[in-house]
This record gives sequence, structure tokens and C-alpha cells, in this order.
Amino acid sequence: MKIHVSSLNEYSFCPRCLYISHVLKIDPEPSRERSRGLVGHAVRKELSLRQAKLLEDIRDTDGIEILLLKELNSVLWDIPHIYKKMLQDIEIEDLIPEIRNEVVREIKTMNERLGIMIREIGIHDTLKRITPWRVEYSLESNRLGFSGRIDKVMKEDTYIPIEIKTGGVPESVWEGDRLQTCAYAMLLEEEFRLKKPIPFGYVEYTRVHERRPVMTTEQVRRRVINARDSIIGILDGKIPDICPHGSGRKCDACGYREKCYEI
Ligand code: SF4
Repeated sequence: MKIHVSSLNEYSFCPRCLYISHVLKIDPEPSRERSRGLVGHAVRKELSLRQAKLLEDIRDTDGIEILLLKELNSVLWDIPHIYKKMLQDIEIEDLIPEIRNEVVREIKTMNERLGIMIREIGIHDTLKRITPWRVEYSLESNRLGFSGRIDKVMKEDTYIPIEIKTGGVPESVWEGDRLQTCAYAMLLEEEFRLKKPIPFGYVEYTRVHERRPVMTTEQVRRRVINARDSIIGILDGKIPDICPHGSGRKCDACGYREKCYEI
């Protein structure tokens, strides 16, 4: 059995969520907040994936913001077609104006940060730093028991996985994102039969245009393996207790809440 790496994130949020969605095949309750989250995710992720290609022809800091704003319009047009499955039951048009306003503000931050980088290290090195070797790179390993699709892979001295996060920005890095990024590094090591470990990956927060490193220490790698084994147990039918994390706030924000408490 191969576990999809994204399940690590869901498991880390709540193992019972994973049981309800993957074993019972129940969808979360629809809500405006959830729809807004999904559309916002699609827009921000798409803009992030296109960013490096878009900036290829830039020679100085002038014009970056205009370029990104123009691309935002294309992204808003394209997402219903690209993310068709994810957005199939959502009235996208109702949500677009507020999401557009938010992303326009984020583009200003992106523009400022890119401008600083270009002034400090030059356009050539800026592009080198932000241009991925591959985007949406799929891979799997029988030995590791994982499959996954990495948002971006950088190629420097080694391969560096990047997980894009479009939601709120935590103080550090959420445990689920840490496990996911580490698992991608482990998959890349397997894929390319690397003798040396990939020492870190990044979580990229699109809202603030910031990449935070995730070290792939032995402890984190062990937590990845332990989580994988627990997920296998859940998919085999082991039902996690209600509120296994002990956080009522998580349950309050959970789309499975009503169903969860009935099971
Ligand atoms: S309501 Fe709470 S325990 Fe139930 S799935 Fe959601 S987060 Fe988990």
C-alpha cells in the first residue's frame, strides 16, 4: 500500500478526519468559508507556480507588479478549468471579488520582496533562486510506501522540495507541513538514489512571499515513518477516538464535525 504524502497533513490535523474522508468517503460539510478557502488556494497556488516563468524576461524591478496583476486576471480565468474537480460544486464568481482584492495586496508584498532581492543580488541570481527545476513533480516509492506530487523542486547541489501553502501563516511551520516536506525529501532521495541525505526542504507561504526551511532530521524522518504506519492502520479500519488531539478549536473549525460526533 502506498500512502499519498498529502495524507500526512490531514493525519497531523486530525487522524479521525482521515478516517472519515478516506475510509467512510464522506465529504466535509459545504460552507462559504470552505469554498472561499478552496478558491483562494487555487488562485494563489497557480500564481506561485507561474511566477518564475513570468519573470524570465524581466530585466529590472520596474513592471513586476503590473506583470503579476495581469497574470492574476489570467489565473482567475483559468482556475475553473485547471482545478475543475476541486471547484466543481462552488459558485466561483461570488467569491472572486474579495479573493482578488486580497491577492492584489499580496502581489504588492511580492513585488516589494522581489524588488529588494533583485537590487541586492541582481536579476540573474534572483531568477536562479526562485526558478524551480520542476513544478508539480510526481513520484512514488514502494520501499518508502509513499506517493506524492511536489509543488516545486529546486535543483542546487541537491534536490530541494518546496511545499506551497496558501492559507494563514503560522509563527513557525505546522507539524503536518513539516512531515509532508520531509517525506518529499525522502521520496526524492529514493527517486534519484542519493547517497547523501537532502538536508532540508522549504514551505513557501504565498501570502507573505516567504520560504521557511524544514530540516529533515532523524527525528522528523522517524515521525514521518510513524505517521505513515498509523495512517495504514486507519485505512485498514482502525477508528481514531473523537478529538484525539484534545483541541476543541480544531473540532470547531472542522468540516466533518456533525458527522464525526454521530459515528
Ligand atoms: S470534529 Fe474534531 S475529532 Fe472529529 S474529525 Fe473533526 S477535528 Fe477530528
